[in-house]
Amino acid sequence: MIELELSQEEVAFRDEVRTFINANLTPELRRETARTTTVFAEKDVAMEWQAILHERGWAAPSWPVEFGGTGWSSTQKFIFNEECTRAGAPGLIPLGLRMLAPVIFKYGTPEQQAEYLPKMLTGEHYWCQGYSEPGSGSDLASLKTRAERDGDEYIVNGTKIWTTHAQFADHIFCLVKTKSDGKPQAGISFLLIDMSAPGITVEPIITMAGDHEVNQVFFDNVRVPVGNRLGPENEGWAVAKYLLEYERGGGAAATRSLVGLESLDDLLAIEQYADDDIATRRNEVEIEISALSVMETQLQARLAKGANPGPESSLMKNFSVSIGQRLSTLKLEALGYHGVPHNTLLDLQDKECVGPEETHTAVGVYLNNRASSIFGGSEQVQKNIIAKVVLGL
Ligand SMILES: Cc1cc2nc3c(=O)[nH]c(=O)nc-3n(C[C@H](O)[C@H](O)[C@H](O)COP(=O)(O)OP(=O)(O)OC[C@H]3O[C@@H](n4cnc5c(N)ncnc54)[C@H](O)[C@@H]3O)c2cc1C
Repeated sequence: MIELELSQEEVAFRDEVRTFINANLTPELRRETARTTTVFAEKDVAMEWQAILHERGWAAPSWPVEFGGTGWSSTQKFIFNEECTRAGAPGLIPLGLRMLAPVIFKYGTPEQQAEYLPKMLTGEHYWCQGYSEPGSGSDLASLKTRAERDGDEYIVNGTKIWTTHAQFADHIFCLVKTKSDGKPQAGISFLLIDMSAPGITVEPIITMAGDHEVNQVFFDNVRVPVGNRLGPENEGWAVAKYLLEYERGGGAAATRSLVGLESLDDLLAIEQYADDDIATRRNEVEIEISALSVMETQLQARLAKGANPGPESSLMKNFSVSIGQRLSTLKLEALGYHGVPHNTLLDLQDKECVGPEETHTAVGVYLNNRASSIFGGSEQVQKNIIAKVVLGL
């Protein structure tokens, strides 16, 4: 791994963050994070850590200071992410804090900003994302959920799918069709919907890993005040795309991969799990993590000078997903049949492990990780972006 060359002030900042994390990240939070097999941490775990950070004023480092942000430089934000990842802190749920919030800064009215932002910071509101529909994922503009105007309200009918954490959420941000003629992108609006509104039902989708992380959400004549629309009517596509810029990654992908590599190394240090073929493939992954680290550091240096992430975020998404998927495969292969008593299927979550901690999570992480090349923009769609923007094809 290459390291950013830090100034004296940045080293002092890193030490301050490190000291705070050591003093406040409890062993229980670390343990729960290590046991996470899903994309997001469990709601309670993430929200406990968010409350601790919020008290220190660090729950939303990227927010403008007037809304509760820190005013940190992009290098400081990067250091903070790295320190949290390295320490094994739970990731904060990005749906509100990192995805919706920037859109509310840009498109929200002062009333919407005052209503939603403080409750997002404190965790009073918990958001989910209603973009994808059956048949409308990569081709998002083909979505069919309708919102018809009735005085001061919209009446919403349709369904959203793969909605992460909808079972916990009290609010959903949704793309809906408010006009049926013209280009599909032209008739979309962006609505903020209270999940307790009559007519909303949430059905669980259990993944092949046995997790309940995603859902299908149904809207049956759901009444939504027109004042809950973000941005102009029929111009929600611009709002939607702006949000997607914030969906991918939160930095520190190389550090996250390195933490994964270290736990693979812990397994391979146990004679029983050592294997020459796995060791060779492990070395290949290590080289790629170094390359990812170089890319991330270079990108970081450019961001610090005010540049945008650009198409490199697509390249880095595919690269880090590939590394993560291979690491989870290697761990599973190393554990062999010891990995089989998989926590969710046999309900061994709260039992003591026979052997290393990874026996609890290896199968769950491996299976759940298959989805990482689909969500947040599928691998093929990222390749299309690279082909078009980088290669000019
Ligand atoms: C775990 C998980 C969590 C998710 N959470 C959410 C959420 O909270 N909210 C939400 O709105 N959505 C969520 N999604 C949905 C996600 O955004 C979509 O799955 C994704 O956009 C792909 O859409 P799709 O599933 O309809 O697949 P499709 O778009 O039908 O794609 C199927 C396959 O075809 C390929 N493909 C599609 N178009 C092209 C093309 N033009 N060129 C080449 N190949 C192509 C894809 O790469 C993929 O391999 C989640 C998905 C997963 C797996």
